[in-house]
Amino acid sequence: MKRFASLLVVIALLAVPIVVTAQKTGRPGVLQLQSPQNPRLGFVIHGGAGVITRGSLTPEQEKEYRAKLEEAVLAGYKALKEGKSGLDAIEIAIRIMEDSPLFNAGKGAVFTADGKNELDASIMDGKSLNAGAVAGLHRVKNPITLARAVMEKSPHVMMIGEGAEKFAEEQKIELVDPKYFFTQRRWDSLQRIIKEEQDKAKKEGSASVTRELAENRFGTVGAVALDKDGNLASGTSTGGMTYKKYGRVGDVPVIGAGTYADNATCAVSATGWGEFFIRLTVARDIASLMEYRALPVQQAADTVIQQKLQKAGGDGGVIAIDKFGNIGISFNSEGMYRAYIDKEGKPVVEIYKQQ
Ligand code: ASP
Repeated sequence: MKRFASLLVVIALLAVPIVVTAQKTGRPGVLQLQSPQNPRLGFVIHGGAGVITRGSLTPEQEKEYRAKLEEAVLAGYKALKEGKSGLDAIEIAIRIMEDSPLFNAGKGAVFTADGKNELDASIMDGKSLNAGAVAGLHRVKNPITLARAVMEKSPHVMMIGEGAEKFAEEQKIELVDPKYFFTQRRWDSLQRIIKEEQDKAKKEGSASVTRELAENRFGTVGAVALDKDGNLASGTSTGGMTYKKYGRVGDVPVIGAGTYADNATCAVSATGWGEFFIRLTVARDIASLMEYRALPVQQAADTVIQQKLQKAGGDGGVIAIDKFGNIGISFNSEGMYRAYIDKEGKPVVEIYKQQ
């Protein structure tokens, strides 16, 4: 009896810290062990995946990409260190990349088949599962900011085209002349593809053209964050794919495909051949493998990208982060522009498969 009583005391003592630190995630049955002030901050960004092999960039270009990625990852991390939310950090970092002509988002977006820049973006809050998405924009300088406004200032999740731009105007979000998005480099890629398509169509029909388009993409941007309150968030912004047809919407603004965040599992931002990411619900699938099969974040990301996406014939990659700050990065393309903050709080920038 005495032994039983002391056993009960031991069990009770062991249980106290667990009960004290356990916080409800807001959904029934899901308990999260986490201190109210998270000692671990986490921040990861990407600048697109594609055929980026060593030697395909000049040393000057590589330097430019590395510098911009470092600037963006440090800006987001600084915000987190100052106590700002993951959503703030994501918006800050993505705006830097949207404003840079290096990436296929905002200024520097690729062109549609009819010579326009048509932008998509989304953002998600892992604490509330609120999300905001925008698609088919021609005049919004920073689509990520509009996506956030849709999430926070409208009752909706997704807004498109002219309606979304009208909402931007109401919200005093900066609009620009569509010419602002023009860059010679992206215009030249469009002309190259138009010519290749004409040549190929003469010879062999259209199937290989689709792959060609997928390979001429590069530069969607995204970020995932873990903030001081233990909240996860993710965001993604893109010009889509060169030579896409009018009105085509990719995975980026589709919640669960290109972007997903849930405090119970992880935050994910994707880049790649959007049609595959939509069909495979890539971002949500990674979270589901963590939720239902308890896979660690890296393994969950690898399962979806290296096995499922690969088998389906798609290409691209993801960045992900879990509620403990563990990072998952996976891509099946030649390279992916990416940067993260390591355990010592230092920025790490990577581009190729083998560093
Ligand atoms: N996922 C984007 C899209 O399909 C393109 C990319 O990430 O490169 O619109």
